[in-house]
Amino acid sequence: MQKIIVGNWKLNLDHLEAISHLQKINYSLSDKILSDVNVVVAPSHTSLRSIQTVIDTDNLKIETAAQDVSQYEDGPYTGEVSSLQLSKLNIKWAIIGHSERRINFDETNEIINKKLKNLLKNNIQPILCIGEDINQRDQDKHIDTCIKQVQETLKGIRKDNLQKVIVAYEPIWAIGTGIVAKPEHAVEIISEIKRFLTSKSFDLEQFQFIYGGSVHSDNAKDFMVTDRIDGFLVGGSSLSSDEFVRIIKLSI
Ligand code: PEP
Repeated sequence: MQKIIVGNWKLNLDHLEAISHLQKINYSLSDKILSDVNVVVAPSHTSLRSIQTVIDTDNLKIETAAQDVSQYEDGPYTGEVSSLQLSKLNIKWAIIGHSERRINFDETNEIINKKLKNLLKNNIQPILCIGEDINQRDQDKHIDTCIKQVQETLKGIRKDNLQKVIVAYEPIWAIGTGIVAKPEHAVEIISEIKRFLTSKSFDLEQFQFIYGGSVHSDNAKDFMVTDRIDGFLVGGSSLSSDEFVRIIKLSI
């Protein structure tokens, strides 16, 4: 299966900086690499249109993700951006359930479930983030926490309409901290989620499982020794084009 590497630029780069960053990344990647690896970048909402226009006009093989989306379809929700609005921009992917949104903006699994349903309705592929905090891991509740997140965010989803859902295992204690989970941690969670999905009659072909949390070029290769991990969600390291490109090359 083609690996997927997603760069989450978070609240960084204005639209001009975002274009230049995209061009640097693209310039360093051959067509061969871009057909072997699915490279996705997630800029701020304000840069989505500019980035997508460059991609469409120059026929780039890099794809765009939104960093979030509204749980609502339309109406009096000032400041929100809907799945339909993203789809009109040709956006293929959207990150949902990132721990920074769960923690800083009180996002619950129920809200994330609504976002996921709206994305699928508009043919946008969700990158669903899950992961436990350090207390849950210390108390040996990490598996239950992650399964609950998957179970509640997939509640009521039509199984024939999933296209492709990326589940990004991002232990909160590893995000932006420099502490990297061991590949065994990711493999354990991914195996348990696969077991859960199978028990609920989901088709595993419709999912891909990636890891995120302080990934950089010194540790990326460790995760790629196992075929259980289909790629990375990269935060901090995606802000350096050289480093991001190194990670992409290491994951082939
Ligand atoms: C992220 O924000 O999704 C992430 C994985 O961040 P970092 O790589 O900086 O830990």
